[in-house]
Parts: sequence; structure tokens; C-alpha cells
Amino acid sequence: MAKRDYYDILGVGRDASEEEIKKAYRRLAVKHHPDKNPGDKTAEEKFKELGEAYEVLSDPQKRAAYDQYGHTAFDPRARAGRGGGAGFHDPFEIFREVFGGSSIFDEFFGSSRHDPTQPHRGNDLRYDLEITFEEAAMGTEKEISLTKPERCDVCQGSGVEAGSRTRTCPTCHGRGQVVSARGIFSIAQTCPHCQGAGQVIEKPCKGCHGSGRRDRVSKIKLRIPAGVDTGARLRSAGNGEAGLRGGPPGDLYVVLHVQPHEIFQRDGDDLLCEVPVSFVQAALGTEIEVPTLNGQATIKIPAGTQPGTMFRLRGKGVKNLQGFGHGDLHVRIDVEVPTHLTAAQRAKLEEFAHLCSGRENPKSQGFFEKARKLFQQFGSES
Ligand SMILES: [Zn+2]
Ligand SMILES: [Zn+2]
Repeated sequence: MAKRDYYDILGVGRDASEEEIKKAYRRLAVKHHPDKNPGDKTAEEKFKELGEAYEVLSDPQKRAAYDQYGHTAFDPRARAGRGGGAGFHDPFEIFREVFGGSSIFDEFFGSSRHDPTQPHRGNDLRYDLEITFEEAAMGTEKEISLTKPERCDVCQGSGVEAGSRTRTCPTCHGRGQVVSARGIFSIAQTCPHCQGAGQVIEKPCKGCHGSGRRDRVSKIKLRIPAGVDTGARLRSAGNGEAGLRGGPPGDLYVVLHVQPHEIFQRDGDDLLCEVPVSFVQAALGTEIEVPTLNGQATIKIPAGTQPGTMFRLRGKGVKNLQGFGHGDLHVRIDVEVPTHLTAAQRAKLEEFAHLCSGRENPKSQGFFEKARKLFQQFGSES
């Protein structure tokens, strides 16, 4: 298969800045992340492709080599290893590194360069979860399932078959990396023999082929508190990837996305809802039933209510996440003008119009008063 141009993959120009490249990668990597597209092989391929393109274009030295030599800058023979990944990082690792630049992920992802022979804490994971408006407002419990590396139960995470031992890798002499010359460049690569561990296992565990971890589907229960909104992150301690060589597991961060509601709009803890009333109701006054998150409420609409009038229902908004009570529900009155009048209705309205002196519409009376003065001014000037 012909390899696509790295700039095309990221959708940026050849003169794109580092920041533009990073931005493009962030956007596309989230879109094609396998967790968001379970079972979609195309998305998975795209995600890998993105990681590869980003790895090269985000590194000034590799980018220069790519600009000059194209894909041949990176010897295809070096890519013959496991999953075509040798010479390139795991796309998930790149994803984490890029997102590690922001907020809560820093603390953990910043330390991803580690001694390959020591136990190491597992990576944190991110999971994007969509919930309904009501679930966000009222709180809920969810069970999610995701495939992630778990500790191998055959070898208890050691990667070694019972009775076998580990020894220093003869290819890289324990360094975990090999350096090879490509024209004028020398490129350090993960050792293809030990996959960077620096140690090889004489007899790897049959359950995990020596990695100490196996991909398994995990079901995780989440308690989503009332009052969360889009962008909220929930931490599920210990539910990230299993640790390496017996290290502790990482954490799972669930990023929430709240679906819009048909009736309510949210503004922090407050809710906004627009309620239509007929022009007769607005003129005569009435009582209307309005929906709230927990049932109906009644609002008294006084006679002569204008479109856009706001009513506030205290405490009928969303529960505050920090426990400071509830927000309010703001009801905005929309006055609806009838569109399909029968002959009889029309006749009555015309009759009504005859009865009008103008004083019942103070706003338009005031407006036309001002307009008349303006016309008189024009009249006197000419
Ligand atoms: Zn090695
Ligand atoms: Zn194992």
C-alpha cells in the first residue's frame, strides 16, 4: 500500500507551524481514537497513521529528513517489526504525550521516560462518555466497558514462565535502544529484540508472550454526580492500564459530553426554557404549566405580558456540583401570533381592531408619536 503524505494525513500545509501541527493532530486523534470507534478498522488505521505522521512532523530533525527524502528517510526495513511499529512509537503513547500537555494528565504522562528494567506505573487512560442532559443534571450511575492491558493472571505480571529467568538483552546490552545510520542521520530506535525492555526472558509466559499484560475487556462502574457538565473529568483510580513488571496501575479519566436537551438550555447551574403562550393569553393573563427537571410547575402570567418577559423559578435549576444548593429555572415567554384564522375568528379580530384606540398598545403608540415628529421635521425643512 502506498504511504500517504504526512502533511496530507494531518491536513496541514508544508509550511505549518509546530503549533498548527499539534492542533491538527489533537483534533484528528480524538476523532479517530479507537475508544470512540470501537471495532472500526479504518479508524484504527487512521489513528496509527496519524500517530506516525505526527511523530515525524513534530520533531524538527525528522521533519527535515522527511521534507528532503520523503518516506525513504525512514528505512522501510526498520519497520518490519511487530505491527509495523518498530522505529515508531506506539500511537497510543503519542496520543497520551500530546494530551499530556494539558491539565490533569501532566503529572503522570510527564514521567513516561522510565528505566525499562524497573517496575513502572501503568499509563492513565482517557475515555469519552456521552450522557443525557437529565443524567448530567440529576446524577447517574453508568457501567462502561473498555479493552485495556490488564495484569496477566498466568505469570502475575512478571512476563516470565514459572521456573524461567530473565537475562540482559544481547542486542542492545541492556540499553533498550539501538542506533543506526541513515545517510547523514543516525536514528535511535527501540531495540527490536527486547522491545526496549533491555532484558529478554529465556522462556516468556505463554499467556502474555512476556509482556506481563494481556488485553482484556473490563467493565467499570462510574458514579456520575448531579451537576456535571460537558468537559467534566471523572477519575477512576486504578482503572487505567496495568503496571509494567508489577508496577501499580494507572488511572482512568472519563471525560463527559452532555447531549443537548429539547426544551432546556443550561447556563452553569441555571436552566433556561422558552414557553410559548398565545397572544390572547398574554393579553388576558393566564396560568401556564412549565416543565422542570422534577415535574411541572405553575407560573401566573399577568395580563399584558410582553414577549421576552422572564420569570424565575428559584431552586428549579441544576444541583451545584460543589454542594451550593440548586440553580434557578428562567422561563422566557414567547408570544405566538395565530397563523391560520377562520373567517369567524378573523371577523372578531377585525371587530376588536375597530374597538382599539391605540392606548391599549403604549409601546407602538409611543413609537408612532416619535415617528410623526420626525416626519414633521422633514416636512418643515423642505
Ligand atoms: Zn534489546
Ligand atoms: Zn503472563
